[in-house]
Amino acid sequence: MNRGKVVILGGGVIGLCSAYYCQNHGFEVTILDKGEFSSGTSFGNAGMIVPSHFVPLAQPGIIAKGIKWMFNSESPFYVRPRFSRSLLDWGWKFYHYSSKNHVLGSAPLLKELNLESKRLYVSLCDQLEDIKIDEKGLIMYCKTRRALDEEAQLADQAVKLGLKAIVMDKQQLNDIDPNLTLDVEGGVYFPDDAFFSPNLFLEKLKLKLIEEGVEMVSQVDNIKFEVGKNLKLIDTNQGTFSGDQFVISAGVWTEELAKLLGLKILMQSGKGYSFTLENPVEIPKICSILTEAKVAVTPMIEGLRFAGTMEIGPLNFDINQRRVQGIKKSIASYFPSFHLSDFNEAEIWTGLRPCSPDGLPYIGRVKKLSNVLLATGHGLMGMSLGPITGKLIAEIASDQYPRIEISSLAVERFL
Ligand SMILES: Cc1cc2nc3c(=O)[nH]c(=O)nc-3n(C[C@H](O)[C@H](O)[C@H](O)COP(=O)(O)OP(=O)(O)OC[C@H]3O[C@@H](n4cnc5c(N)ncnc54)[C@H](O)[C@@H]3O)c2cc1C
Repeated sequence: MNRGKVVILGGGVIGLCSAYYCQNHGFEVTILDKGEFSSGTSFGNAGMIVPSHFVPLAQPGIIAKGIKWMFNSESPFYVRPRFSRSLLDWGWKFYHYSSKNHVLGSAPLLKELNLESKRLYVSLCDQLEDIKIDEKGLIMYCKTRRALDEEAQLADQAVKLGLKAIVMDKQQLNDIDPNLTLDVEGGVYFPDDAFFSPNLFLEKLKLKLIEEGVEMVSQVDNIKFEVGKNLKLIDTNQGTFSGDQFVISAGVWTEELAKLLGLKILMQSGKGYSFTLENPVEIPKICSILTEAKVAVTPMIEGLRFAGTMEIGPLNFDINQRRVQGIKKSIASYFPSFHLSDFNEAEIWTGLRPCSPDGLPYIGRVKKLSNVLLATGHGLMGMSLGPITGKLIAEIASDQYPRIEISSLAVERFL
């Protein structure tokens, strides 16, 4: 069945998964990218699929921590102070949503989205060649008793939500991952989580899309929208693209595209870094997060990847070496077999997370232009939520009820 044509702007994990499911729902699909479908945040991240992340970034205590960390140049979370209307609007909402009620209200939805996305990943990987997700789970390593107590409380909440979470001492953690030397107090094991190489997955997905007849256009620039009652077409340096429906999934760059359509969405960029050791001294079997340092560690086909920091600030890819140094120091402190010199040759990758102020994505139709859909704002968990977002976009574009109730993700919820 041909349901008409969908044009997608932005080819990170969200755009590519939207293209896959729209094509599967019977749409003719064109996807446009400003780069070569490999320059966004989706291509160097930690590759974790995280049902355990049911707490949004906007949470109680985060503002106080953020203020404390602003005075530490190696800290994992930082808001770059600047006079900007969009930062003020975003910051005010972020403050408003950093509440217990918001966390309790969002947790069941985030858990459901993540679990469904993981299920979709498993079947999607079955369709692709030579790729599978590793379903061994994730460990939150804690160096201090205080962090372990906090994680244990989170584990309790996880169990109440129906997830598996096991609090462990150092010996039990050693038994789970005997390949790794640890200097920690304990940790929490989340068996429902998973991990893989995001780069490899996206390469395979792109090949699949081409094979299935999706038109992929790279190096797209000078975008102009022609709008009547609805969006009619997109004019670009690579030609003019008309469609029945349009999806904007350009990550952190969605805000400026939305502006061209007269639509205001609140978004800030959350910069992070990653680097990968091809031949590390030790290779863990399972992915982990160094809890106090907020550093992610993932074994993947390319080697052992470390990722961290969240710098809320303007759109740029500058590397802050002090913060990268903070990541390196924390690795050596949790995993004493690693030394700072191990990272001398490591190339630093920078990624910009698209962050909404309430920590929830924007998924749905734009009210005032009903043939335009937005899919962005996934912040810390965009890789995890790629397939479910694509599936929901395909269902909404097909005028079906989305499989999960997502009214709290409405695009215009802050207007
Ligand atoms: C260090 C780090 C580690 C992370 N680890 C994880 C993790 O382990 N698990 C997890 O779930 N998430 C993780 N994330 C978050 C995740 O990477 C992001 O949420 C996700 O990649 C966002 O995907 P996206 O498709 O929205 O954006 P992007 O991947 O940034 O894609 C946007 C695309 O839009 C294109 N574009 C931009 N402007 C235009 C335009 N005008 N026209 C057309 N195209 C345009 C860009 O070229 C790009 O290809 C991490 C992020 C960072 C920074």
